Amino acid sequence: MSGATDDPPVFQAGVGEPDDLDRLWTPHRMAYIRGESKPADDSAGECPFCRVPSLTDGEGLVVHRGETAYAVLNLYPYAPGHLMVCPYRHVADYTETTDQEAAEIAAMTKRAMTVIRAVSGAAGFNIGMNQGHIAGAGIAAHLHQHVVPRWPGDQNFMPIIGRTKTLPELLADTRDLLAAAWA
Ligand SMILES: [Zn+2]
Repeated sequence: MSGATDDPPVFQAGVGEPDDLDRLWTPHRMAYIRGESKPADDSAGECPFCRVPSLTDGEGLVVHRGETAYAVLNLYPYAPGHLMVCPYRHVADYTETTDQEAAEIAAMTKRAMTVIRAVSGAAGFNIGMNQGHIAGAGIAAHLHQHVVPRWPGDQNFMPIIGRTKTLPELLADTRDLLAAAWA
């Protein structure tokens, strides 16, 4: 992109499912994301969803930590505020969750909706799990429930901040807002 400045790149760790989409949310500066690439295999040792809880909340974009599950912003959001709820345990299939995990994932999904509505005024949501690569899961080995807020015309999550900050900064601000509202 032309018009690059001398501002240092902003790096952001985290987790998500890389796609080939460019995210040009910031017209004046390049946003650099050092994200998780596709895991080499399906083992827990290669799994970004297993690694993120060992990072700080800010580094990993963790919004909330529960007993058996946690909520984390997607590093490659479909929409601003797109987060994921997943168990700490490395399980691929929804049928493999314990009753406690399934109940906490459900409760955290409801809480995420309440929090995102309160913070951003989301008008609707897409919620769900892609089970298996064939169903669209980029990281199929560790199940994760997507919570994707929607607005009429899908306007920016935070227009004031979004206008002026790079994507990694926007993700950090979004995490801070959601984590504060969740508590
Ligand atoms: Zn895992």
